Amino acid sequence: MSPILNNDKTFISFKASVYILVSYSVRGEEPVVVEALKTRALPEGSCDKLLEFLRLYRDAVQLVVDRIWGINEKLSWKKLHRLFYNNLVSMGFRAHHAKEIYVYAESLVESAKSNGGRKPALRRLSARVDKYDYRLDLDNMVLTLKLHSDYEAKLKLVTSRERIEKYKGWSNYELVVKYEDGEFWVSIYFRRAIKPVKPRTVMTIDLNFDNITLAVFTLGGRLVKLKRFKTPHREILTHKIWIERIQRRYAKSWRYIKGVKKAIEKHGERIRNISWDYAHKIGDSVAELALKYHSVVVLEDLDELRENNKRDRSFNKKLGLWFYRRIQFCIEYEARERDLEVVKINPRGTSSKCPRCNRKLVENKHRVLRCRKCGFMGDRDVVAVMNIYGKYVSKHLRCGVSGVAPNAPKPDENTSGMQGNKDEAMKVIEPHELI
Ligand SMILES: [Zn+2]
Repeated sequence: MSPILNNDKTFISFKASVYILVSYSVRGEEPVVVEALKTRALPEGSCDKLLEFLRLYRDAVQLVVDRIWGINEKLSWKKLHRLFYNNLVSMGFRAHHAKEIYVYAESLVESAKSNGGRKPALRRLSARVDKYDYRLDLDNMVLTLKLHSDYEAKLKLVTSRERIEKYKGWSNYELVVKYEDGEFWVSIYFRRAIKPVKPRTVMTIDLNFDNITLAVFTLGGRLVKLKRFKTPHREILTHKIWIERIQRRYAKSWRYIKGVKKAIEKHGERIRNISWDYAHKIGDSVAELALKYHSVVVLEDLDELRENNKRDRSFNKKLGLWFYRRIQFCIEYEARERDLEVVKINPRGTSSKCPRCNRKLVENKHRVLRCRKCGFMGDRDVVAVMNIYGKYVSKHLRCGVSGVAPNAPKPDENTSGMQGNKDEAMKVIEPHELI
């Protein structure tokens, strides 16, 4: 089973092509961290058979793509197997090669269709190989690939021992081998299960257009830290507006005029750099803080955002959720790397309801909300982090998941200072005072 292909919570990237990170948690399964080690590989002896394999593999993927392109339904693996397995095996592929090929072809077709693109035409030489079809000897840094028609290829990994060392306690389950500009590259996917430490505090995070608000609460509901980070959303938006302006001006021709296309690519590149740099930095600082406070990190589940009024349609259209997802991905990844627990809650109502009595809040003045029933008053972001805490508590602490008293108080009990002097309410308690 390939998480790279089949998990929509998968994000691939990381500082150009140094390595790729994938983090996911499937309900009911233990959380894992996945990393890809990307390295150059040097074939021992002739590379003819390996190249032959890569060409055959590419042509086979293309063949499956061609056949299923016209079918307007999502094909199950079972059906794909029935349609292509025998054919692929007769071409010389091993059982798991065949499976990787049709699953990969299907994912290509599906993503091309969902992007409204054309039928994919494969040029690059690249193959996804299942763990049954390779042997990895980390001590000697040698990879043996099982190719078509019982051929084998031995490759020496060209990387430092220190880089490899990290993965010795991990399991690996899949790799991608590529031929690019006369060189072979492999990305080997490693996986490690994480055993979250028992949290002593709850860190809740609210993402907004201009800033990220982070709050740390004790399990008893006391606010111990509140912090804001500015986001580069406006800067990103400026580049986005530039791209759209150019595309409107050259509505029909921007794809074909070299200079225009280049200008668009430049803005796109800026957006990518700004957003990844930011996400990495935030992920790191948030996770460091969470580690310091022994927090469980609570995020909004962006898949359930539709109902949330703070991100209306026009806003989503402007920026999409991709940037939030990227930030969350980095926070989640960095937290899990530090063996911290990460939980997502449904954000519905978190930015509009009173954290004290659950009534709908009204806007008092810019960004400040007030409750007509109980008089609670608070900044929009603060309301959100308090509500996220409240939801986490009612869902996770009350049913005793973490073994905490089921009557954990609501966040309002000690944070009502919110309505008065903000700085006072946000007085920071050092982590050692908590324990
Ligand atoms: Zn209220």
